[in-house]
Amino acid sequence: MKITRELVAKLPKTDLHLHLGGSMRLETLIDLAKKDRVELPSFTVQGLRETVFKESYHTLEDYLKCFVYPGAVMQKPENLSRIAYELAVDNQNEGVRYIEVRFAPQRYAGGEMDLPQVLEAVNDGLNRARREFNSREVIVSGREPRFDYGIIACAMRYFTKESSMYFKGIFSVHAHSRHDRIFGLASFELTGAIVKARREKGIPVVAIDIAGREKGYPPIHHREAYMLARRNFLNKTVHAGEAYGPESIFQAITELGADRIGHGTSLFNPEAISDPAITDRQRYVDDLVRFIADRRVTIEVCLSSNMQTDPELHRLEDHPFRRMMSNRLSCTICTDNRTVSNTTVTDEVLKAVNAFNLSYAQLKSLVAYGFKRSFFPHNYRKKRAYVKQCMDYFEEVTADSI
Ligand SMILES: [Zn+2]
Repeated sequence: MKITRELVAKLPKTDLHLHLGGSMRLETLIDLAKKDRVELPSFTVQGLRETVFKESYHTLEDYLKCFVYPGAVMQKPENLSRIAYELAVDNQNEGVRYIEVRFAPQRYAGGEMDLPQVLEAVNDGLNRARREFNSREVIVSGREPRFDYGIIACAMRYFTKESSMYFKGIFSVHAHSRHDRIFGLASFELTGAIVKARREKGIPVVAIDIAGREKGYPPIHHREAYMLARRNFLNKTVHAGEAYGPESIFQAITELGADRIGHGTSLFNPEAISDPAITDRQRYVDDLVRFIADRRVTIEVCLSSNMQTDPELHRLEDHPFRRMMSNRLSCTICTDNRTVSNTTVTDEVLKAVNAFNLSYAQLKSLVAYGFKRSFFPHNYRKKRAYVKQCMDYFEEVTADSI
């Protein structure tokens, strides 16, 4: 069976690792920047592609700079709602039925909005796109699966006074605390806000995450926040093993109780271990891989993004996704940042199929993992029914091609 772009585009898909700011339409960035008088290096799509949102980046730090401009236009509720709405629509238009949108609410709070208002604004946009999509006849009649979403709130591993008005406030209140302690306090506070937004406003914040510079800013700083999340039945994911070694993944799982790992690209690399206490590095990696496989900790794989930020990766065929598959890890294909990485879910799935020569069965299980390992915001019975409906639809779509 030939797995074509047309077929992949029609398949029901998920994106569980999707940043709001890094996936904004460039036309919208330009439009909002003009409206809010935000200075951009260029006011054309092509100009922005040449100066900021490039084909490749030298380091993760370089890549993260792409978030500065979108961040500047995400300070108003109406802008956030529009960006979130368009992101959901872009996904719907390429067959994606379930997304988990992540962003760092504290980067947009402290000025016009407080934390709950940031969450509400994003939720309003996503909810509107969901409502519109699900009112289509094919959905109402049950012939096709509905569109749904969850929200993941990212705490920042690192920030400065300049990162946002909110962060400025945190630094002034904790003027005499160590910085790593302040990062932990901020994530703890964020978790408290999420719990409240879920409970009091019914906003489907399904999980907490930590994002931003990994090197030098270990998961352990956020232990208390993750404990609070656990006590409140929140799911947990962590960006880990993207710019630091396997011990970062280990910490994310053992200290923070991560249900999923974002990237995990350094997982199979014993050379990347820098902890001198780990003497038998290969054994450490083998044990960690077994541990992850056994517990079905899911890896959110972002192929294009990793190729752009990992200087060690030259060919997609060498991406550790191959070893993740051969070790039978639970993996799901994600975009990370649609605009910054200039990609879509269809592109990413197709890349995986072509570079790793995936069979129909492998593709099907990869797509199924996305639905099964999602942090679906409704009860388990509903989740099972939804996963079944999506996978039945998967078979229906592919039936003509077999
Ligand atoms: Zn990410």
